[in-house]
Amino acid sequence: MTTHRVTLIPGDGTGPELAEATRRVLEAAAATSGSSFEWDVQEAGVDIMETAGTPLPQATIDSVRKNGVAIKGPITTPIGTGFRSVNVALRYELDLYACLRPCKSYPGVRSRFDNVDVVIVRENTEDLYAGIEYAAHSEQADEVITFLNGLQDKKIREGSGISIKPMSEFGSERIIRYAFDYARDNGRKRVHCVTKSNIMKHTDGLFLSVFREVAKDYPDIDPWENLVDATCMGLIQRPEEWDVLVLPNLYGDILSDLTAGMVGGLGVAPGANIGANAAVFEATHGSAPKYKGQNKVNPTAMILSGMLMLKHLGEAKAAENLEHAVSAVIAEGRDTTYDMKPTRDDPTAVGTSEYADAIIAKLEEMK
Ligand code: NAD
Repeated sequence: MTTHRVTLIPGDGTGPELAEATRRVLEAAAATSGSSFEWDVQEAGVDIMETAGTPLPQATIDSVRKNGVAIKGPITTPIGTGFRSVNVALRYELDLYACLRPCKSYPGVRSRFDNVDVVIVRENTEDLYAGIEYAAHSEQADEVITFLNGLQDKKIREGSGISIKPMSEFGSERIIRYAFDYARDNGRKRVHCVTKSNIMKHTDGLFLSVFREVAKDYPDIDPWENLVDATCMGLIQRPEEWDVLVLPNLYGDILSDLTAGMVGGLGVAPGANIGANAAVFEATHGSAPKYKGQNKVNPTAMILSGMLMLKHLGEAKAAENLEHAVSAVIAEGRDTTYDMKPTRDDPTAVGTSEYADAIIAKLEEMK
């Protein structure tokens, strides 16, 4: 029997109740294929800031580093405290360069589309999100503008704010390789490189030229080149034609929300942030603090993030069983949370914990 040691970070807001539902479901899923978990529970978030002096204790980072795999509930970004977002800090500390967001239609989830099965692979560390910015009229912005205006005929207007878009060969290659490897490991046929390379030749253009080189190493996967604007239209018009999409940071952020919306929204959108030495699995949504402690919110996104984690741990059968169990409960539509019902005040809605019980009951039948 394989036992997987995994860091479990319940988080704050509704995080702890979502994490508890997910933990129980994951244990039941692992049991269907004869494996189990040993949880290394670690704290992070606004609830521990006072006692720990930080929302992200070093012990939590060390635990993820040691175990290599973590599953995490959402965490509120503290406002006005000087602390940066725990999510951003974790990605930075562990160099989690790949953001993975599979978006799949499950029958029974209310959505305008019923045939979506796309995977967004977003670069997490570069691009306009690198955080290199200069405020309009600041000394640095004026200096940058003077320097750049001296280099070329095109002039930047005085009083402009500046955000820098660095994209490297190294950063592009590792995310593109990750997308191709993911496609191969998951039986996918196509990887789409989504950029605006016709306009931003030295950043998006570089990303595309790296894509063309890397694609040569994966002759079994079909490489497609798409522009980001046309991709938005194409996804809506012909969702079934899209497969694995690899994108620089900004487009990846925007398109992952678009595709999450196409499959029913935040409540069902799983995710993962993955690096060379560690992977953190988490729902796309935030801590929904107004529902804290009410046993009300939908744990599907975190549970499906757990399904991605099972695959990552090599537990393909348990992952498949879990996906079947979740989709069966959703398709039946009886034991689902309020947000999955036809109206939000539907009295037949069940709580977070009871929804998890219904999934566990399906998994028990598979043992
Ligand atoms: P949110 O995702 O918490 O909430 C947006 C809306 O969706 C709210 O109406 C909420 O009630 C609803 N919602 C969210 N998750 C739900 C679920 N599982 N089931 C049912 N309804 C759900 O976004 P927000 O309000 O912008 O953010 C709240 C806090 O979470 C902020 O501090 C934000 O920074 C943080 N956040 C954390 C993460 C993360 O930990 N990965 C991600 C996004 C936002």
